[in-house]
Amino acid sequence: MWGFTKSHCKDSALHLRNRVLPNVAARLLLQPIDKRMNSVLSRFSLCDAHCHPQDDPRHLELFLSVEASQVAAMGTRESNWQTVEDLYRAYPSKVIPCFGVHPWFAHAHALEPGTYGRDIIVDTRRHPAPSDQQGAEYDQQGCRGVEKGLLDSKLSNEWLQKLRQLLECYPQAWVGEFGLDRSAIIPQTKLQVSYQHQLQLTELHLRLAAELKRPVSMHCVRAYGHLHDMIKDLGPDNCPPRIMLHSFGGSPEVVVQFLRGLPKELGNRIFFSFSSVINGANKTKLISRITAVPDDRWLIESDQNTPAAIDSDMVDILAIVAEAKDWDLNRTAVQAALNFESFCNVSC
Ligand SMILES: [Zn+2]
Repeated sequence: MWGFTKSHCKDSALHLRNRVLPNVAARLLLQPIDKRMNSVLSRFSLCDAHCHPQDDPRHLELFLSVEASQVAAMGTRESNWQTVEDLYRAYPSKVIPCFGVHPWFAHAHALEPGTYGRDIIVDTRRHPAPSDQQGAEYDQQGCRGVEKGLLDSKLSNEWLQKLRQLLECYPQAWVGEFGLDRSAIIPQTKLQVSYQHQLQLTELHLRLAAELKRPVSMHCVRAYGHLHDMIKDLGPDNCPPRIMLHSFGGSPEVVVQFLRGLPKELGNRIFFSFSSVINGANKTKLISRITAVPDDRWLIESDQNTPAAIDSDMVDILAIVAEAKDWDLNRTAVQAALNFESFCNVSC
């Protein structure tokens, strides 16, 4: 049982924080002063626009030494929203809580009651899954049991109400991570979430964020054209005030498509966020992508799943943006801070 109540969200953050403070504070004080003061991240109050630090519960106390000013902690499924909430309540000045259903977990989130896995999951093999009698070859792949369990499972749609409750409880929360992924395979299987279901989930998140006036952080793989069309069709009233395409992997042409192909009122809401961990594999392409993004529309993120790697990855991607823009690090840091502030400011 998930156990969310309204009174739950009013609990003091201090209680949780005090559980970890003493040891970490002592360790922090032992650090050399310039280590604490000289980081470009703390000097310019730079913020991590997209990460998953709650995925490393054994090292959450490292949060106190993270120099990024704030981090947007992305929930990816109903079963980890509680960990995002706990992290925010432990470090309220550092964490922007974010709640959504990532396309990799879309198969566990139904839109209608009475939905079974098989209603929203498709087999990626050229031929349909063999019957039990034909199962020898299938068994060798070691995934039949997992696949059968997924296909036969009855899914709940109660997450819909919980998502709304969480966002209403935390007015500073963003919607994310959610989106479209035409390459994703459900782990340990050869199954994929149906694209139709992904489209429906994505539209639902966009409409909810528009209604509650929240920024969103979106995952998009091999689906930029569909996302562009969905945003255009929803129109300004049903689209969120800020839309971040996180770890953006599209071409410079896709940047232009989103900024100029959409009506101005929508194009003005789009931001492109970059990480070294996802985008850094092909630096030449990354540089050309960053160069295509206007100076006031890029963000930086770590996309890390541990607090231990946030700062180093943030500094890495900041340096890459500086190289792409041909700016010095200070100018790049000033612009990064301005862009993050502009992304958060949903009133204009
Ligand atoms: Zn992510």
